[in-house]
Amino acid sequence: MNPTPKYRTGLGFDAHELVAGRRLMLGGVHIPSKLGLAGHSDADVLLHALTDALLGALALPDIGALFPDTDAKWKNAPSELMLRGAYQRVRAKGFRLLNADCVLVCDQPKLVPHSVAIRTSIARMLDVQPDLVGLQAKTTEGTRLALKRKSIAAFATVLVARKPGTRSRLRSPTPDPRPPTPARP
Ligand SMILES: [Zn+2]
Repeated sequence: MNPTPKYRTGLGFDAHELVAGRRLMLGGVHIPSKLGLAGHSDADVLLHALTDALLGALALPDIGALFPDTDAKWKNAPSELMLRGAYQRVRAKGFRLLNADCVLVCDQPKLVPHSVAIRTSIARMLDVQPDLVGLQAKTTEGTRLALKRKSIAAFATVLVARKPGTRSRLRSPTPDPRPPTPARP
């Protein structure tokens, strides 16, 4: 049994409703739009999905448990604080991010022109190079994955690795001292 694998993956999902009178924030970038996302915080659906992916990779409590929407502290708060808080918990467990990949499902506004800005913004928050953060902007294609012009959904996956030099306490800190088994003739 290997109780502490070197690599772990995490998956996150989130969706928010598009409403009038809110700034649209995606990946920490303000996207010009008549509609923004409803929510207790700044409702950055992409950062929420990423936050849950990071927490899920280490089987930690999810974003709703760590940053409850009943807490006035998070009212209109930048979701970057949640993402950074989640990544801090991941690093405290001895892991760091190798790469992230994200999908935004959104009909309006068009996100492709903002893709580089969003990837760069997320990379800065997670202290990695932008080419380690993937982003695909998809439309609903008539499906009900996200409601046309009424919501935006986001998926995120991450791969984290145990930092070099941080070994599980359950593992032997030194190489196995037994001599190799001689090959059978
Ligand atoms: Zn959310």
